[in-house]
Amino acid sequence: MSKNYRAELVGCFGNPIDENPTGVVEEAAFLEKGLNYRYLTVLVKAEDLGKAMDGVRAFHMRGVNLTIPHKVAVLQYLDELSEAAEIIGAVNTVVNNNGVLFGENTDGKGYLMSLVDEGVDVAGKHIAVLGAGGAARAIAVECALAGARKITVINGNETRGQELVSLLNRRTNASAVYLPWKGTVDIPQDADILSNATSVGLYPNTDQKPDINYDTIRSDMVVTDVIFNDPNSLFLGEAKRRGAKTVNGLGMLARQGALNFKLWTGVDAPQELMMETLKKEFGL
Ligand code: NDP
Repeated sequence: MSKNYRAELVGCFGNPIDENPTGVVEEAAFLEKGLNYRYLTVLVKAEDLGKAMDGVRAFHMRGVNLTIPHKVAVLQYLDELSEAAEIIGAVNTVVNNNGVLFGENTDGKGYLMSLVDEGVDVAGKHIAVLGAGGAARAIAVECALAGARKITVINGNETRGQELVSLLNRRTNASAVYLPWKGTVDIPQDADILSNATSVGLYPNTDQKPDINYDTIRSDMVVTDVIFNDPNSLFLGEAKRRGAKTVNGLGMLARQGALNFKLWTGVDAPQELMMETLKKEFGL
């Protein structure tokens, strides 16, 4: 009887990449489900992305994750895009279907699922998003596609902020507005969800928090953070002190990992195990 010694290859391309914990989480899930998959954490410089994507085809890799600085640049090497990835204009997950490369963006979907885990539904809600970069775009677009009523984009760089607002108004049913962020900003009082999608507070800068007027956080708001390292960010601490329900960035990371697992293997991910593995990696 013949035996298959060839592992299915997936992985992540990025720069920097050394401290990305996704491989540990995906490998734990493959082991749990008895799948002969390997997750490779690969340093790929911006100028080498084309060659690396050729490698995905040449090595018959099942797929890859893309992180900084490749999420937008990768689009030129793909054959198909999901609706969300096309609207967002960025891809963090590629699936290789027999040489046809399909791009998806699971950042925002992972975010939505982490909210559902906490009993939070975005339909009909007003979401105030801090930031207008890759994570903010994914979060805002997925919230809008999931039925959010209004999205306020609060960002320092006005061009980036207005661009996201016009994208949301053009391509989704949500009504979007831009709120300039110069100095300490007040959160709109009719917001239901406040979402930090900036990189402020990310390790090692855990002593920093977004410059907002924290007294404008109401106790009936849900306050979320993309920052997962440290998951107990100062931002969430301030929100907690004011009685708001908080959701940290770990759930978003674990959930998108689970979505990617399913996209590559077709098997439901062991979600609890993935979350526990992630927490262990962060010493929690
Ligand atoms: P980008 O570089 O694309 O965007 C960064 C955003 O943060 C910009 O809007 C920028 O504003 C804003 N920003 C940066 N510094 C400040 C500051 N001091 N004050 C106010 N705004 C600031 O990064 P990404 O969107 O890709 O990533 C953002 C964060 O999300 C990262 O920390 C990343 O680790 C995290 N992330 C978490 C995920 C998870 O699963 N939990 C998934 C993906 C990302 P401006 O436009 O004015 O420059």
